[in-house]
Amino acid sequence: MKPPKFDYHAPSSVDEALALLGRYGGDAKILAGGQSLVPLLNFRLSRPAALIDLNRIPSLAYIRAHDGTEPRPTHGTPPSVQAGLAAPVTEVRLGAMTRQRTVEFSPVIAERVPLLTEATRWVGHLPIRSRGTIGGSLAHADPSAEYPTVLAALEGSVVARGPKGERVVGAGELFVSYLTTSLGPEEILVEVRVPAMPAGAGYAFEELARRHGDFALVGIAAVIARDGERCTLARLATSGTGPVPIRLRDAERILERDGLGDAAIDAAARRASELVEPDADIHASADYRRHLTGVLTGRAIKRALTKAGRG
Ligand SMILES: Cc1cc2nc3c(=O)[nH]c(=O)nc-3n(C[C@H](O)[C@H](O)[C@H](O)COP(=O)(O)OP(=O)(O)OC[C@H]3O[C@@H](n4cnc5c(N)ncnc54)[C@H](O)[C@@H]3O)c2cc1C
Repeated sequence: MKPPKFDYHAPSSVDEALALLGRYGGDAKILAGGQSLVPLLNFRLSRPAALIDLNRIPSLAYIRAHDGTEPRPTHGTPPSVQAGLAAPVTEVRLGAMTRQRTVEFSPVIAERVPLLTEATRWVGHLPIRSRGTIGGSLAHADPSAEYPTVLAALEGSVVARGPKGERVVGAGELFVSYLTTSLGPEEILVEVRVPAMPAGAGYAFEELARRHGDFALVGIAAVIARDGERCTLARLATSGTGPVPIRLRDAERILERDGLGDAAIDAAARRASELVEPDADIHASADYRRHLTGVLTGRAIKRALTKAGRG
């Protein structure tokens, strides 16, 4: 099928894009990689009056390690740098238009947020990752997608710019329901912020899909830090088990309280399957998804542990 008619604009700055969004009063759509939006247009599930294409705004594509100090216009150099100290990287910031393929091969991401590197390999196929963007994936908010789950597990955030200025939205507030975020119709997601993973933390992204490259039936993101047999930090989040990514906080607590022996891992995996309320669809029953949540959580914790330093 062909999409319905729409106006097309390719602004060269975010300000211009915002002015265009304002002009259409909520009836325009941002076009990023087009890997989700274009199929929706072709199926006529989305009928915007206009597309605002962000692909001509190069300043929206970058990956930067950030040390937590905000730039100061008047006294530009952070104190740590003035003192000759290298400030520790606390988060990685990615422009919304950074392609998934760039994320996949970024040495900064591989070093600071390797969970994101691993999760990216599960996103669709190579041509999709070559066009698809990290901002587009988060704004699209497919509950089976990998990036929302990683953002939830690592407690990342996004920066949204709109008519009233800029605001930072944490993962917990961003995802509202199926394909729905708390971004307003006149806001643009401009940046993604992901905290750097603790040094020595192990990680894994486990997922099951019917065919390679399909959206996950269930996906699990796991980050585990240890001090000997003690678990000093556990982060677990799912995709495909409800309208939004779900943090498995109770399962995390079991590991942080009871350690990293087999019994604790089994108990955490069991608890994970109780914490989700998946829907049934043509791909899998709710019971199967719940069962998968337990199996994949156990698997993800064990594989994360193989990469974790001893503390
Ligand atoms: C065959 C196939 C398989 C796929 N498999 C997977 C998979 O396994 N896992 C996965 O995660 N994804 C998968 N995808 C989706 C892919 O990752 C998309 O790239 C992603 O969901 C959307 O990113 P995009 O840059 O293409 O956004 P677009 O398609 O351009 O936009 C998606 C939506 O987000 C909005 N939007 C985009 N950017 C912004 C922004 N900066 N600010 C505000 N709103 C914005 C758009 O208006 C639109 O509503 C698959 C896609 C296909 C076609």
